[in-house]
Amino acid sequence: MTSLTKIIATVGPACEKSEVLKKLIEAGVSIFRLNLKHNDISWHRKIIQNIDILRKKYGYEVGMMLDLQGPELRLLTKNMADIEVFRGEEVYLGDVFLTDQKSIILSKKGITNKIKIGEKIYIDSGLYEFKVVFSKKGLVVLKSIQDCVIKNGKSMAIPGFENNLPALTRSDFSNLSEFCGLPVNFVCLSFCRSKEDIKKLRQVLKLRNMKVSVVSKIESRTGLNNLDEIIDASDGVMVARGDLGVEVPIKEIAFWQKEIIRSCRLKNKPVIVATQMMESMVEMAKPTRAEVSDVANAVFDGADSLMLSGETAVGKYPIGVVTYMQSICQFTEYKRPIDRLRRKQLKVGDLMVNSVRNLVVNSKNVSIDKILVFSKSGNTARFISSYRLGIPMISLTDSKKTVKDMLLSYAIIPYFKKFSSGKFDASGEIIDELIKIGLLKKGERVIVVHGQSWLVSSTTNEVGVFEV
Ligand code: PEP
Repeated sequence: MTSLTKIIATVGPACEKSEVLKKLIEAGVSIFRLNLKHNDISWHRKIIQNIDILRKKYGYEVGMMLDLQGPELRLLTKNMADIEVFRGEEVYLGDVFLTDQKSIILSKKGITNKIKIGEKIYIDSGLYEFKVVFSKKGLVVLKSIQDCVIKNGKSMAIPGFENNLPALTRSDFSNLSEFCGLPVNFVCLSFCRSKEDIKKLRQVLKLRNMKVSVVSKIESRTGLNNLDEIIDASDGVMVARGDLGVEVPIKEIAFWQKEIIRSCRLKNKPVIVATQMMESMVEMAKPTRAEVSDVANAVFDGADSLMLSGETAVGKYPIGVVTYMQSICQFTEYKRPIDRLRRKQLKVGDLMVNSVRNLVVNSKNVSIDKILVFSKSGNTARFISSYRLGIPMISLTDSKKTVKDMLLSYAIIPYFKKFSSGKFDASGEIIDELIKIGLLKKGERVIVVHGQSWLVSSTTNEVGVFEV
């Protein structure tokens, strides 16, 4: 059994081979992320095909997530060469390279004349900081705060600057067209600032007939300010700590991680914690103590999914890092107390789901092994999941899209089932099938949640307990 907290792995050269992807799934990856900031379209298309072949050949239930580039600025160096810069040294930024100077340009023209003296500029996912000491007619001089090496193609961020650029860029539009008809399940919207950004993305997806769920990346102050409306309009949310740590002071990251997770849980929306969770494992075979704590704390905070970026994409130990993450999550989930979400207003249907929580909490001497839920749209399953009950939940649905959506959510094991009759029977055909495939075992105590009829959505109103 894998951890209840889901693991998302970013695909890159370190894990692109089918045999490595297969091992990653077996080590516990639920969803693969394809980051369109790296590699070309044909590479991504090939990876999608390879993952789909694995899904079909071995029956793996694994999702695919396309992460759009968004309004990110990239820098270019002369002849793509590395530039070594010392603390206090100056680097020239403009629309053309300067000879005899340490000089860089941006991948987008017309930006440099908007940069002002005194502003801070961050290069390489916020790793290096520079101060703008001169800016006139598109020529900008940056003073380095540290010794560093600037590499061609790295990101450049000017805090607050994304507000001037649309969340969905022209290249995002054309990139999406390249993925029409491919078996992708989620699209991530980088630098999501408001519900309007999500609305626009949904329109674009609809026009392309792409039936995918939308995950909004929170990575700017505006996104934080509009958090509630973004969560309402999204199918899932990502705490994108990399860019968020550039856009807002880095000291705020842990606070916002907790706030975003709590808000998502209250609205039953899955939430992902991303970036630098096990960063040292890009090079090393073991995580640092601080990274172990970071992963465990994300579980304590109540994240649905944890995401690996460079660790699996370019790291030396892609399988090792997933194995470590799995074991930290499993141990922490076992220790994590069930907390009570303080929902202000409960509806009648919510009371029924609350009773599942109460059954689990009050049945300490008669431990409950599994929850079985009939959830056509996934909403009831996500609601129960939001309580983080520490028990695997088998969620049956007759929608293939819902199966993939539920891969993001804590504790949910989605299972596709075409319902033939409308009533639940604890000794019926469905239970036999779940025993046969190993999802249930004889003697296990199960809480079952269902409605008057499984064939009709939004009728969930019965909770029962039975022994398999
Ligand atoms: C992030 O900024 O944390 C993030 C997940 O985005 P990306 O990896 O695309 O920079």
